[in-house]
Amino acid sequence: MQLDFLGTLQRTHMCGELRPAHDGETVVLMGWVNRRRDHGNLIFLDLRDRSGITQIVLDKEVSALAHSKAEAARPEFVVAVTGKVRKRAAGLENPNMATGEIEIVASELLLLNEAKTPPFSPAEDAIQNEEVRLKYRFIDLRREQMQQSFRMRHAITKAVRDNLSAQGFLEIETPMLTRSTPEGARDFLVPSRVHPGEFYALPQSPQIFKQILMISGFDKYFQIARCFRDEDQRADRQLEFTQIDLEMTFPQQETIFKVVESFLASAFAAAGITITGGFTRMTYDEAIHLYGSDKPDMRLPAMVELTEVLTPELRTTLKIEQGLPALGFLIPAVGELSGTARKALLSEIRTFFGDCGLDLLDTVRLRTNEAFLPLANAIDSKLQPDAVRGDLAVVITPKLGTPAQWNYDPQWIYKRVGLLRLELAKKFADKHGAFTQTGTAADFKFLWVTDFPMYEWNEETKHWDAAHHPFTSPHEDDIKSGALFNDKGSVRALAYDIVLNGMELGSGSIRIHRQDVQAEIFRSLGMSDEEAKSRFGFFLEALEYGTPPHGGIALGLDRIAMLLAGAASLREVIAFPKTAKAIDLMMDAPTPATEHQLRELHLRQSVKS
Ligand code: ASP
Repeated sequence: MQLDFLGTLQRTHMCGELRPAHDGETVVLMGWVNRRRDHGNLIFLDLRDRSGITQIVLDKEVSALAHSKAEAARPEFVVAVTGKVRKRAAGLENPNMATGEIEIVASELLLLNEAKTPPFSPAEDAIQNEEVRLKYRFIDLRREQMQQSFRMRHAITKAVRDNLSAQGFLEIETPMLTRSTPEGARDFLVPSRVHPGEFYALPQSPQIFKQILMISGFDKYFQIARCFRDEDQRADRQLEFTQIDLEMTFPQQETIFKVVESFLASAFAAAGITITGGFTRMTYDEAIHLYGSDKPDMRLPAMVELTEVLTPELRTTLKIEQGLPALGFLIPAVGELSGTARKALLSEIRTFFGDCGLDLLDTVRLRTNEAFLPLANAIDSKLQPDAVRGDLAVVITPKLGTPAQWNYDPQWIYKRVGLLRLELAKKFADKHGAFTQTGTAADFKFLWVTDFPMYEWNEETKHWDAAHHPFTSPHEDDIKSGALFNDKGSVRALAYDIVLNGMELGSGSIRIHRQDVQAEIFRSLGMSDEEAKSRFGFFLEALEYGTPPHGGIALGLDRIAMLLAGAASLREVIAFPKTAKAIDLMMDAPTPATEHQLRELHLRQSVKS
C-alpha cells in the first residue's frame, strides 16, 4: 500500500471539538479510523482521537482521489483529513455523538499509516478477555473507557498537587535506588555492578526520606511517589503503585486529617463529586467491635453485641459457650426468604464458618418455640429488624467448646462475623442496593480509624511486630503509664487509617522524634542495638541532630482513581499494570538475564530443581 507523508500539514482541531458553529470552515483532523462504512460513491469514516469522534464523508464527486484512498482505509489506519465542516441535514443528526450535528466533507485524505486487523476493536465497548487486553495494551488504551479513566486520573492527580501546593507543601523527589524501608513487605533488590555482592532496594515507601526532610527543615513535604512491594497480587494490589505521600512538622493528628480531607475534597471535585457527608471517626477497638474489621464498610448497619442477651442459663440450654461474644447484624431489604432459601443460607453460613465453632442461631426457628419467644424478642429489639423492608437478621453464637483465641487473636470472633457480614452484604447487594453507584457523594462513606495497636504478636518469631511501621510513635499516655515496657499488647499507637467504603485508602502516624524512644522501640521489636545500628544507624544519628515532632500519611492514588472510575480492579486505572501472576504481558516481563549481564553484576545463577 502506498502511504502518504505528513509533510507540513498541521491539525487544526481535535476530533471531538467541532459543532454547528463551525459550519463552512475548512479544517484538518488527524486520528484513527474507528469505523468505516462503504456506500459505493459515498464512504463514511468515523475518525477518532482522544477527544472524540467525527464523521468524515468521502464523496467520489468531491474528490475521486480521497475517495479511492478511503476505499483502501481500514479500522485503526492513521489518517489526516482536510475538509469542510457541514451541518448535517435535519433528521440525519446523531444525538449519541457530541459532534453528531456536523460532518466533514473531505477534499483530501492522507493515509499516514496502515494497521493490521487488531485482536479486538477499540470501537467496541465490551472486551472480555483481560489477558488479550493486557498483551495488546496499546490498543486497549485507545478505548473510550480507558481514555476517560486516564483523563480522570490526571485530573485527580493535578487537583491533589494543586491543593497540597496551596496548603504550603513542597513536592520533593526521593530515590528509587535505596536501602530497605520497613513497611512489612518483601523488598525488590537491585544488584550493584560497581559494588560486587551489594544490592540496592527499591523503596517500599519514601518513609525514612520524608522524615529526614522534616529533620532538614522542609516543614511540609509531599510526593506522588512510586512504591515497590514484593507481595502476592490481589485485585487491589500491584507490585508497584503510587502513593500520595506527605509529611509535616509539629502536627497533631487533627492537623493531618484536615490536610487530607482538603485534598480529597479537591480530588473528588475533579471527578465531579462534591464530598458532603463528612468524615466519621472511630477508634480501632470500636471498628473491630462494630464491624469486625479495621477498615469498616459503613454502607450497611454495624454488628450488634448480643452477648448480654444470652444469659448463662440460656447458653446452657442452647449449648452456647459461656463468656464469649454473641453477635448479630442486619442485611437490609432482603425480603422474606422461602424455606428452601433459608435452609440454603443456613448451610452456606455453616460452610463459611467450617469447624471453628461459630454457628448461626436460627431466630425464625427460635420463634416457633414459646420458651424462646422472649429471647427472640430481646434479640429483635436489639437488632431492630425492619419487617416492612424485610431486613434479614443474622445471629451468630459460639458453640460449646469454641476457643476464646484463634491464632493468638482474642478478637477473632468479631473478625470472622465481620467477614460473614461482608459476604452476605455482597450476596444480597441487588436487594439492599447499598453498593450501587449513583455517581454522587452518597456513594462514598469516609472514615478515620484511630488508636491502632502499636504491636502485633508474631507467633512464628515469638516477637512483637510493629503493627504500622517502627517509626510510629506510641500514645504518650501508654509511655507514661509504663505499658510500653510491661504490657505491649495494650499499647496504642498514634497511627490512623483513612478508609473509604471498606477499603483502606491510606495510613499514617505521628512519628517518634526522640532518639531514645526510637532506640527503645527497635529493641522492643526484638532488634538488637547492633542490628538497629547496622540497618538504621544513619537515621538514629539524624534523630540526634534536632529532630522536630512530625507526622504524615500516605494514600493510594491508584485506589482513589479506581473507586472514582467505578472500576473493579486497579488494572483499569494503571496504564501498564501487572497481572495477578505479577507479569507484564505486553513487555513480557520479568525475563531471564543474559550470562553477560549476570557476569557484570557478579551474579551466578543456580536453579533449584
Ligand atoms: N509509609 C507509610 C506507608 O506506606 C505511610 C506513612 O506512615 O506515612 O504505609
